[in-house]
Amino acid sequence: MVTDAETGAVVGQIRYSAYGEERYTSGMTPTDYRYTGQLSRLAEIGLYHYGARWFDPEIAHFVQADTVVPDASNPATFDRFAYTRNNPIRYNDPMGHDVGCSAADPKCKSTNTISPPKITKPYIISRRNWGALVPGSKGGGEGLFNRESNPGGYAKYSDLYPSKSLSDVLDTVVFHHEGNQQTYDVAQVQKDEMEGGAYDIAYHYVVGADGSIYEGRDIGVRGAHVPDTNSGKIGILWLGDFEPGMAFESGLRLPFDINGNDPRPTTAQIEASVNLVSWLDQEYGIDSAYGHTELYRKSVCPGSNAMPFISIFRALVQEIR
Ligand SMILES: [Zn+2]
Repeated sequence: MVTDAETGAVVGQIRYSAYGEERYTSGMTPTDYRYTGQLSRLAEIGLYHYGARWFDPEIAHFVQADTVVPDASNPATFDRFAYTRNNPIRYNDPMGHDVGCSAADPKCKSTNTISPPKITKPYIISRRNWGALVPGSKGGGEGLFNRESNPGGYAKYSDLYPSKSLSDVLDTVVFHHEGNQQTYDVAQVQKDEMEGGAYDIAYHYVVGADGSIYEGRDIGVRGAHVPDTNSGKIGILWLGDFEPGMAFESGLRLPFDINGNDPRPTTAQIEASVNLVSWLDQEYGIDSAYGHTELYRKSVCPGSNAMPFISIFRALVQEIR
């Protein structure tokens, strides 16, 4: 409930169902912090930011598994996606991992509020496992970095900035979509890009519609996904085409792409990307997140249907500290 600071009058209120779905709203609610005080991006994506994880009130489960099984003697806690043992009326979990704690229990409180949980590295399919081509094996006009003759070439950050660590250099994630090609195939994306002159796949990670995360260009190598300003920017490619109008010669924007797919990132794709970016933020200290078009207006990438999701990642890297 939001009250006017001067008068104490009720100027707006939001009531919640037990799991946090907004069921009643009136007047002004000049705050994004709702339900047990968490950052709400519900209007955009239907997920609550729960400190360490994201919580979706529609499915009443966290979208990323808790890192700790809290109580081995209670089988309910083994469902690591369950929110407060499926009993939100009795329990409240403001830190996102305080399952079953009573505020009156000082021991429980102290162990659960001092250190945030470590974010587990998501499973990433290695280049070897998806059959990646060796960098440079297609010729690659991008070429190898040379400070004098090819300053824009394929460069290890350790060669570009010998005195800096990787976490000093990496500060931004940039999202892309595959666009018109719509191969949904990471190996084909790499082959097409290398035949087009790139030394290797342009991006550091690729996320499929099923939530699979693929290793792209080595994280210690500068990407080739935004013109002239690739240093420090981790490129993440979403397989698919999220600008549906581009797929039709008629110019009509239809609610599916040329392969009959829904032209927006899937829930699995977004959740996998949230887990990936949360982990990257923990490892390297990410400060900002963009869609490609925000850095390069001539491109519509990652598509107008994907751009609303970028705010999730902006919030994620700015709020989790
Ligand atoms: Zn792009």
